[in-house]
Amino acid sequence: MAQKYKTYDIRCGKCTEYLLTYHKYGAGKGILRLYLSNIVAPKSLSELAKSNPASIKSIPNLQCPNCEEVIGVPAISKGQKWVFRMRQGLFHRQLKK
Ligand SMILES: [Zn+2]
Repeated sequence: MAQKYKTYDIRCGKCTEYLLTYHKYGAGKGILRLYLSNIVAPKSLSELAKSNPASIKSIPNLQCPNCEEVIGVPAISKGQKWVFRMRQGLFHRQLKK
């Protein structure tokens, strides 16, 4: 049975620092957006989706904790969900088994 989602580790493309773990749904290959509700680790990021912030300003940029490169910026999807719009080429993803 195929899983409904794949689990990826996302790392900084510049310094390879671990950023987060993500459950990706759907067949698309690219990661253009990260849905906050599908971030499973670290807790500091996965909790953001639950906070249901009133303003986009309360969601920080997705930033590398090591080299401070900004990897993604917060936005709202068409489905009114919180996402990080990912800056292509600035991160690595690694499929976990
Ligand atoms: Zn980095």
